Amino acid sequence: MMNRRLLGLFAHPDDESRIVGGVLAKYASEGAKVSLVVATRGEAGSCGEPPLCTLEDLPRVRERELREACAVLGVTDLTILEYRDGTLATVDRSKFIGHLVAAIRRVRPHIILTFGPEGRTLHPDHIVIHEAATAAFSLAADPGAYPELRQFPHATPKLYYTTFPQSLVDAIQWSFPGQPDNEITIALDIRPWIGQKKRATNEAHRTQAHDQPFANLPEDERWRALSTEYFFLAATQGIARSNQEDDLFDGIEA
Ligand SMILES: [Zn+2]
Repeated sequence: MMNRRLLGLFAHPDDESRIVGGVLAKYASEGAKVSLVVATRGEAGSCGEPPLCTLEDLPRVRERELREACAVLGVTDLTILEYRDGTLATVDRSKFIGHLVAAIRRVRPHIILTFGPEGRTLHPDHIVIHEAATAAFSLAADPGAYPELRQFPHATPKLYYTTFPQSLVDAIQWSFPGQPDNEITIALDIRPWIGQKKRATNEAHRTQAHDQPFANLPEDERWRALSTEYFFLAATQGIARSNQEDDLFDGIEA
């Protein structure tokens, strides 16, 4: 069995559980090394309803929740960058990308997962990490980029964006953009890992559990809709591109 490595690049604690919790748990359970970089501690989020902590304690509480979620999902390598929640659009972009390049060169993943251009919910931090991760995917492979990091370059074979098919968005009257169904590269059925995704979302990220995706749907329908995770293959490096995939690691030899 090859040593498969997957790296998620996200903005806030809970993005990983809500959006790709099933896929992280799936590949971890199949023996892949699953790494995660989260840019902020989510301190602009809610303290919970009713509040479970003070605002002052929220960064520490959310970091603890994130670590619990990682344990539930099987993420064994977590990096939290020292950015403030809600500020990513104003930070030094080159330096921010440098942190992601450093993570990519250290982890040397086969696959990077991040937000699509709509940032799932149009959250500015989500859109910034989408842009920065896309830049870092290429720059990490460029020996002339960020030489001060003193790391070997790494060409990650595949960059995927998380997405939702427009048909689902329409069916559930989701208020954020979807992607045309025929553009979606892969729809992964994550039902075997839905228990882990639920536990990470509801029980680990307790302060955020009152406000969840597809809240307009009845609970069973919500989790049915969240039982498939959709991805768009945005870019490849050093491998042939296929538009017909059954698995994120398809086409990768390691
Ligand atoms: Zn977020």
